[in-house]
Amino acid sequence: MADTITAAERSRIMAAVRSRHTSPELAVRRIVASLGVRYRLHGKNVPGSPDLVVAPQRKVLFVHGCFWHRHSCRRGQSTPAANKKFWAAKFARNVARDADVRRALRREGWRALIVWECQLTPAKLPATVGRIRRFLVAEPSTVPAAKTGKTAKTSAKTRSRAVRSEPQRSIARSDA
Ligand SMILES: [Zn+2]
Repeated sequence: MADTITAAERSRIMAAVRSRHTSPELAVRRIVASLGVRYRLHGKNVPGSPDLVVAPQRKVLFVHGCFWHRHSCRRGQSTPAANKKFWAAKFARNVARDADVRRALRREGWRALIVWECQLTPAKLPATVGRIRRFLVAEPSTVPAAKTGKTAKTSAKTRSRAVRSEPQRSIARSDA
């Protein structure tokens, strides 16, 4: 899908984000706000308490530190030399928790975007702004998720759940 953001729009967003001493989370908040999308912070009633919650669209954003959440980048794959076992266990817990959260979100019909810390460097910022924009603005909201056909897996699961009672009936009939 083409990123249809205009040059003027992009430079306005970049100017808002590029201020100094900006934490990754603050940078993402500014990007989302620049797109004119209203959000809540740390939705307590949403699985994983996502950093940003866009409730009307049923979309959430997480801003993940590469080291703690084990991104595929260099920082995310590095492990301190001392206490390797401790770190391995800690990282495994973090990764497992993230996977649980993603599953819980999917079950409840939330769509999630993960923005990694390293994707907010000046070199990667334009692409990240485009990605967030596509997620929040260009893509239609999916309420309910099963109707769009975009999340084929989810809708297949929902269907199979809905017809679960039918096989029992056919078994009863085959007894006769
Ligand atoms: Zn990273």
